[in-house]
Amino acid sequence: MRGAPGRGGAQRPLTALHWTGGVAMIARPKLGAYKARARFMRRKIVAGNWKMHGSRAANAPLVEAILAGVTSERMSCVICPPHIYLHDTWRVLRGGVVALGAQDLCAEAVGAYTGEVSGAMLKDVGCTYTLVGHSERRTLFGESSALAARKFAAALSVGLIPILCVGEQLSDREAGRTEGIVGSQLEAVTQLSGVQALGGAVIAYEPVWAIGTGRTATPEQAQEVHAFIRQRVAAEDAKIAAGLRILYGGSVKAGNARDIFAMPDVDGGLIGGASLKADEFLAIVAAA
Ligand code: PEP
Repeated sequence: MRGAPGRGGAQRPLTALHWTGGVAMIARPKLGAYKARARFMRRKIVAGNWKMHGSRAANAPLVEAILAGVTSERMSCVICPPHIYLHDTWRVLRGGVVALGAQDLCAEAVGAYTGEVSGAMLKDVGCTYTLVGHSERRTLFGESSALAARKFAAALSVGLIPILCVGEQLSDREAGRTEGIVGSQLEAVTQLSGVQALGGAVIAYEPVWAIGTGRTATPEQAQEVHAFIRQRVAAEDAKIAAGLRILYGGSVKAGNARDIFAMPDVDGGLIGGASLKADEFLAIVAAA
């Protein structure tokens, strides 16, 4: 990875030397004033993205088991079933400790958009969160960063908490473009909605090469990009950056969650495959 932009456009290297004792020691714009306290104030989140999996018969025991296993509110647990199952899921969760999230929403508020689901409809069936710009939406369905930014704004406008997914392809990483790609995905949102909008949102860093592949980023690789994201936001607003929850996603399992979540800028995880098995998901929740 290359360095992040500093004041006046100068590049300053982003190295582990900026981190000591598990607490961020960031010298760059103003984040230092908030960083130490903020890490302990950021409540971790574990969100399960079911993707296009499930059935009414299979979902019921899974949701019941997750609900029975999440006993504490020290962290936030979210499950994101397919749209068609949101309301059934809500009837089991009933606004308790496990929150409901959607996997996507329409950028438009209402109207002739066949097949689409608006943010207001998601709220109506009990959603608190929605994913925005998941890499499968970007790569398989051609969603641009501009469209993801509009969806992000649409979610906020109805009081949903957007979980903005960002991440690079393997070829980008190998070519040293990770920061450029992630930075531009983030910038599409801040240019449209302003950096303050991130105060009501969550970011999920999901390297595309790690999603559903079994190939996880190392805790250090995740930390490096999470720190970059936080510093990038801090350049515009240090307080928002310090409170911003940044999740890691990409083949997180019970066996690797604890090490990844221990990184100072990792505030939990977005979990795909492993969220479909209650025991595995609950072990990840316990690691947060
Ligand atoms: C995801 O879908 O966001 C994801 C991270 O999937 P997986 O955990 O299966 O890699």
